[in-house]
Amino acid sequence: IRQRLAKADKIEAVSHLSAAISHEIRNPLTTVKGFLQLLSEQNYPDEKKKEFIHIAVQELDRAEEVINDYLTFARPAFEKIEDIDIEKELNHVLNVLNPLANLNGVEVKKKYTSGLTISGDRSKFQQAFINLIKNGLEAMPDGGALTVQTFRTGSVIHIIVRDTGIGMTNEQIARLGEPYYTTKGQQGTGLGMMVTFSILRVMKGRAEIKSQVDKGSTFHIRFNHLENIEE
Ligand code: ADP
Ligand code: MG
Repeated sequence: IRQRLAKADKIEAVSHLSAAISHEIRNPLTTVKGFLQLLSEQNYPDEKKKEFIHIAVQELDRAEEVINDYLTFARPAFEKIEDIDIEKELNHVLNVLNPLANLNGVEVKKKYTSGLTISGDRSKFQQAFINLIKNGLEAMPDGGALTVQTFRTGSVIHIIVRDTGIGMTNEQIARLGEPYYTTKGQQGTGLGMMVTFSILRVMKGRAEIKSQVDKGSTFHIRFNHLENIEE
């Protein structure tokens, strides 16, 4: 199962990423505010109070997830173009995700070529890969292996993220990056891959995805480091 992705049209569906994200955060906040107002205005029975609080906490969890998909590594400064040390940044992402890897019993394998750099915004690069690698870890709830590999051929830098997880059907691959597309129910936002693809697009990275149900998935990202400098 192979698919080249030109996600531009799908990403255009949400013309302003930040508008979509703030909408996703505003909704749960409005709900929470409503429940707090109810609780302050009337003396509800304990049962009801518990129910309100439970819903409010769920809504806040959701807002937190949306923020994580978008702003885990956000920096207050405006977008800054700098040299990105790929090995260093991938290690940083893997450190952040280490608790999840441990929780799922996933073995993380690193196959780096040292000294590879591309230019771009470091925090955006981290965000793109945290969303990608987090999905890989979440695809292996009963353990498995996550491999992160980097190498260079000519002017092209390759980053490969491979998991031995639940995999995807062709239909699922085709819908990757579509806003709000998730198979994780309440646990998912369906925004992670949209954010990843939009960052890759700005950095002129290309993603090739192969996946087989119950075998796992491979995300092969290519950056042409002569091309990826912002014009
Ligand atoms: P979320 O993780 O919140 O569901 P994403 O945009 O990150 O949203 O991913 C969208 C969907 O793509 C996931 O719900 C899942 O079905 C699928 N997916 C992404 N990466 C993988 C992977 N490595 N293995 C299996 N399915 C994946
Ligand atoms: Mg995700």
